[in-house]
Amino acid sequence: DFTKEYFKMVEKDVIVYAKTRLDFFDEDVELSCEEIGDGNLNYVFRLVDSKSGKSLIVKQAGPVARISDEFKVSPDRNRIESEILSLQHKLAPGFVPKMYHYDPIMNCCAMEDLSDHEIMRTALIKHKTFPLFADHITTFMVNTLLHTSDVVTEHKEKKELVKSFTNPELCEITEDLVYTEPFFDCERNDIFEGSREFIKEHIWNDEKLALETAKLKFEFMTHSQSLLHGDLHTGSIFIKEDSTKVIDPEFAFYGPAGYDVGNVVANLIFAYVNGKFTIEDDGERDKFLQYMEKTIREVIDLFTEKFLYGWDEHATERVATYPGFKEYYLDGLLRDTVAVTGLELCRRTIGIAGVKDIQVIKNEKDRVAAEKIVLSAGKTFILERDTIRTGDDFVKVVLNYA
Ligand code: ADP
Ligand code: MG
Ligand code: MG
Ligand code: MG
Repeated sequence: DFTKEYFKMVEKDVIVYAKTRLDFFDEDVELSCEEIGDGNLNYVFRLVDSKSGKSLIVKQAGPVARISDEFKVSPDRNRIESEILSLQHKLAPGFVPKMYHYDPIMNCCAMEDLSDHEIMRTALIKHKTFPLFADHITTFMVNTLLHTSDVVTEHKEKKELVKSFTNPELCEITEDLVYTEPFFDCERNDIFEGSREFIKEHIWNDEKLALETAKLKFEFMTHSQSLLHGDLHTGSIFIKEDSTKVIDPEFAFYGPAGYDVGNVVANLIFAYVNGKFTIEDDGERDKFLQYMEKTIREVIDLFTEKFLYGWDEHATERVATYPGFKEYYLDGLLRDTVAVTGLELCRRTIGIAGVKDIQVIKNEKDRVAAEKIVLSAGKTFILERDTIRTGDDFVKVVLNYA
């Protein structure tokens, strides 16, 4: 019985669930179901009807995190995920999967199957390139971040939205895993032994760096600027040549808008560094690295351009039109973007949730060299966040160490 009490479903339950609780499939369906989740927190089931060929995704929040049961994660994250996907679908049509159904008892939702796309991190590790990505992701970010801010949203309505998306448990994970643990010798960190000395000397023993991460952590906790995706790395993006879809917004809450932009940029830098160390052919490597550089540049510069344009078109707040204000506001947003780029580079290398881009570098010397690049760049982004602003500035920091 799916209507009384939550239980964690297995594949055969999901088939019954789809037949009895969803009106997505035809009466005479012949369903098969496979659990395809690879994330840290949830269970993702893919249902296929062999008769009609129709397919559907059911995502269920587990009672504890999949990665480790020491993380307490409220199943309410599944409500947040389905509500946010519906909202993002309105703000940025075409850039998220369609949401069909949310069930507050089973803590699951049903959404469009995007299996014709590929997870972007996987595609980038194969060194595939996506010329439209920067354009797509900047439209998605400007539409979701600018339009949920006080610049555009009526302020009382925004405060209501802030209330319904406070997401305390998932925020705590970010506060710990991104802003705190990587910057001291924390037991839960997961470091590559060859990098330990470098991390000790350049990250853990740097008091100035520690102070800056403390400032940034408090800004993250207190600056309710925009409704963030909250986990916008390349593993939360489905992509193919002509289409980009953002999934997995369960970390969403009102925070600093630069958090999302910085996450995208940092994960592009991981792909860059992966290409540098794993592509053997010189010509192929040059081509891929040039594509990655161009994409990093474009993400920053197109975001800036579209944000300013969107501001002129959509600002509803009187003082937002005062000369100089939008430039002031964007400057702060970009400062946060720079800092978060740095935090994400460090935390994915030192902290508990590593990235494949770096982990697949098999040669030990190369792995350490790759980690030194991202950690050095990461530290620079955190410390120099007042001066780095353009796409070119971002690329220069990376090239300075790469
Ligand atoms: P988690 O919150 O546990 O990280 P995700 O939402 O990131 O879960 O999904 C985990 C995996 O499940 C994705 O990497 C992808 O392979 C698959 N998946 C998730 N949503 C869809 C979808 N709408 N269509 C197809 N596959 C999906
Ligand atoms: Mg995920
Ligand atoms: Mg690691
Ligand atoms: Mg997730």
